[in-house]
Amino acid sequence: MRHCRYGLRLTFVLGAGMVLGACAGSGWTDRERMIISLSDSVMFVTTLPEDSVQLRTPSIDVEAGQLQSEELKTLMAKMLRTVTDPSQDGVGIAAPQVGINRRIIWVQRLDKEDEPFECYVNIRVDSLYGETTHGREGCLSVPGYSGFVPRKTDVIISYADLESGETKKEHVNGYTAIIFQHECDHLDGILYIDKADSVFVNQAWMEELKQFDYTRPDWW
Ligand code: ZN
Repeated sequence: MRHCRYGLRLTFVLGAGMVLGACAGSGWTDRERMIISLSDSVMFVTTLPEDSVQLRTPSIDVEAGQLQSEELKTLMAKMLRTVTDPSQDGVGIAAPQVGINRRIIWVQRLDKEDEPFECYVNIRVDSLYGETTHGREGCLSVPGYSGFVPRKTDVIISYADLESGETKKEHVNGYTAIIFQHECDHLDGILYIDKADSVFVNQAWMEELKQFDYTRPDWW
């Protein structure tokens, strides 16, 4: 999801796998390892319409044997640099948005002191409840547009503890709960435009996009 530039944080742009030949024993496919190792500090962000297949493919779990892997650590670090890069300025990003269809997201915890970014692996939204809001959202993968999306104010999430592999659960409320909903939708191949009441061109964002070079990498 993307950071709101007007009206406090009411607009966010949130930031989709082909499973080819798996590298023996690692659990990561050759394609995943290539994307993780070849990208420099900021990863290429998948966008519509070119990357529709990537963004629409449901993501799979990171296996227990991969939770301590160097590949996961590297991927997490690069996803964080990507979502916080000035060219993205997001409040959340999901692994399909950097070409990896695994259940990994970063969310800026705006509900915590100092608003830290936190990573969640094998995350799921277990339940949604509370009031329905119609806040403005944008997405790193749908540049230049934003829309109003009905979301619930409360979520119960579950995710894997990277040290023990055990499942943790947490209740999240408010705007941060909306970021979780947006990012978890990415893991199911769902984009905010599928749920939005309306989607419109965001002229301010269009102007901002002109500052950056969106040339696609050779490996893509
Ligand atoms: Zn998004």
